[in-house]
Amino acid sequence: MSLTPKPESKEKFGAATRLVHAGRDPGAQHGFVNTPIYRGSTVLYPTYDAIKHRRGRYNYGTSATPTMDSLTEAWTELAGAAGTIVTPSGLSALTVALMAAVSAGDHLLVTDSAYRPTRQFCDGVLARFGVAVTYYDPTVGAGIAELMRPNTKAVLVEAPGSQSFEMQDVPAIAAVAHAQGACVIMDNTWATPLLFPPHERGVDIAVEAGTKYLSGGSDLLIGLASANAAYYPPLRRTFDHLAPCAGAEDIFLALRGMRTMALRLREHGRVGLEMARWFQARPEVLRVLHPGLPEDPGHDIWKRDFAGASGLFGVILKPVPEAAVAAMLDGLELFGMGFSWGGFESLVIPFDCTPYRTATRWAPGGPALRFHIGLEDVADLQADLDAGFARLRAAS
Ligand SMILES: *Cc1c(COP(=O)(O)O)cnc(C)c1O
Repeated sequence: MSLTPKPESKEKFGAATRLVHAGRDPGAQHGFVNTPIYRGSTVLYPTYDAIKHRRGRYNYGTSATPTMDSLTEAWTELAGAAGTIVTPSGLSALTVALMAAVSAGDHLLVTDSAYRPTRQFCDGVLARFGVAVTYYDPTVGAGIAELMRPNTKAVLVEAPGSQSFEMQDVPAIAAVAHAQGACVIMDNTWATPLLFPPHERGVDIAVEAGTKYLSGGSDLLIGLASANAAYYPPLRRTFDHLAPCAGAEDIFLALRGMRTMALRLREHGRVGLEMARWFQARPEVLRVLHPGLPEDPGHDIWKRDFAGASGLFGVILKPVPEAAVAAMLDGLELFGMGFSWGGFESLVIPFDCTPYRTATRWAPGGPALRFHIGLEDVADLQADLDAGFARLRAAS
């Protein structure tokens, strides 16, 4: 086996193989499998000529290190992108992507189902810098054409939507946006490029909160933004100007998580769908928000565009007093209550989109819960929830 895979042989490999082999060069690391953690600010140049003309791959720790390159090269390959930046959180990757795409005087369209901190950045920083933002119905599809203005420079999509899980017709929205030269930015955290190849589907800049499935351990904050050939230069320039560089240890942990991501995601997806069906059959449940279910309004788009599901979905309970929901959740043994997701442990949060939706009305018909299904035994998770539903009924 050659210690350095030949670049021209990469195309023939499947996504899981690429996740294992991409961005590694054991030949350059004395045979060690992983790229080590390069910490550093200063990079020394051997000669006057070299420093004067900035010769060499590395110039300064904020812009690139071999550890950073390992992750960005691997992600670029996986996402089918022209290049990738890595930042200290998913949200910072989103903010760099947005700042790369819009300027003062521009108009930006954002799905009403976007991750809430994305909205806060648009309504706060972008508005302050003279960008007009309009929120749109996530299910608008090609109808987005009616919302485009002459100065619309970017459209932000997220599928399925944060918390509410609406599917979006990304190719249809991208076709409209591209017809007038607008940039399509996608928050692809739920699917990762393994389940939704963003750039093949018309996305110009795809953002991943690596905090979720890349980490897989709830022990890491990191973000990635990959871009096609048209948008990588402005994305990279914006990154260089802002310098939101991730720490070397965190990049190393992201690489470590990435190698096993395909396997974990397959399991999260399989068990997630099993649990979604289990919830559907419960008498206490009104509706399950999971695009992998045939009853879901977004199922056809999901089937057409996605290669699978991850482990995050929503459950709407039949109306019960808030105290009954509290009794159910407070006694759970295996489901932790906390934000973020994508780790090995199961999580649940109560949620309500009412306070921040502006383009659409959120009226689910009962209390809403978001579940992240971890890697525990399904029977144990179901027994824990069974007892939870018994507490819910007793308190109703
Ligand atoms: C968690 C999350 C983010 C932000 O990631 P952080 O690393 O926590 O900043 C962005 N988008 C979605 C959909 C998320 O779930």
